[in-house]
Amino acid sequence: MRFSETIRNMTGGGSDGWDVVRKAARMEREGTPVTHLTLGEHDIRTDPMILEAMYRSAMDGATGYMSFEGDMGLRSRIAARLTARTGVETTPENVLIVPGGQGGLFATHHAVCDPGDRALYIDPYYTTYPGTIRTVGAVPVAIEARADRNFQPDEADIAAVAEGARSILVNTPNNPTGVVYTRDTLEGIGRVARDNDLWIISDEVYDTQVWIGDHVSLRALPGLAERTLVVGSMSKSHAMTGSRVGWVVGPEEAIHHMTNLATNTTYGVPGYIQHAAAFALDQGEAFEEKIAEPFRRRRDLVAKLMEGQNAARAIPADGAMYVMVDIRATGLSGEDFANRLLDEHHVAVMPGESFGKAAAGHLRVALTVADERLEEAVARLIELANDLAAGRQAS
Ligand code: PMP
Repeated sequence: MRFSETIRNMTGGGSDGWDVVRKAARMEREGTPVTHLTLGEHDIRTDPMILEAMYRSAMDGATGYMSFEGDMGLRSRIAARLTARTGVETTPENVLIVPGGQGGLFATHHAVCDPGDRALYIDPYYTTYPGTIRTVGAVPVAIEARADRNFQPDEADIAAVAEGARSILVNTPNNPTGVVYTRDTLEGIGRVARDNDLWIISDEVYDTQVWIGDHVSLRALPGLAERTLVVGSMSKSHAMTGSRVGWVVGPEEAIHHMTNLATNTTYGVPGYIQHAAAFALDQGEAFEEKIAEPFRRRRDLVAKLMEGQNAARAIPADGAMYVMVDIRATGLSGEDFANRLLDEHHVAVMPGESFGKAAAGHLRVALTVADERLEEAVARLIELANDLAAGRQAS
């Protein structure tokens, strides 16, 4: 039987970028302990308090169909949160509850792109971006944010491909680089979007994990709210990755269209999950800081361990749960280095190539294991990089 072009082309062919993760899992099954610094998954589980709220809600009867746009209580809390954080007046009518940030990325692209439209995104990128764009039949167009600009995208590079495009997808704080885009960078993106009448899809799922500088939401820049769809999520801020609850915030008309999409795809998000999310948001900023704190601490730890290193050079991480490491001085690709680190030292990291061309020759280290284990793994990484660089000099 024949499958659709859209589904067959979703991955764009080639590797999906997760080979190292699969190999690490295989090694572990076969009895070799591996330190996993690959996935963006906390090393703690969802707080029991939140799970109790979920249980209470389910026992109280929130087990039936819910309104497709989401629970009013949760939408109100998210509206209040965005109003407070961005200064942009936001009402529940500007909020759609979706199954996680990933559900939001799909809904937003579906809402603004027709088949064949060019949809821009910044490389390095979170691995699902091009696939999500292809899912709606649009054509993904990568714009490289270069390592020599500390992975801040350049307005001129965006402007060069923006004409006739439909949307631009931006992620700050950034996965995989840990870079927080500056106000200057974001103003440049805003100018290109306005000049070319682009929708901005702003993936802000790491907005509670900012270590240096401030998180600026594109929606808060003058004149951008009408063309910006913000994607948010409880996954990273509240360690609720498995609950699959997130949101899209944007103009009412956009929310209306995406509600129709929910009606015809997901039917929304389970009520008890939404009530648990509302409870989690009510715990306030102190709770969010508690969830973010280990990543801040480990980011500092890695920065200290890697200070003065030349063969493996850490890119200063301003946010999110990752540190990018430049290993180009070793002469190996990110993929080859990651494979050797796994084979020889049983440490799994993501090759930069999994996140696009601009991240080639880099590694993404997820700060998602206990400090001592992370310290040991980073020491192995530095050792391998130094050995390779020294061997390169000798040969
Ligand atoms: N955006 C980015 C940048 C991510 O890193 C992730 C998950 N790793 C997501 C979106 C999707 O997250 P979720 O669907 O769990 O909210």
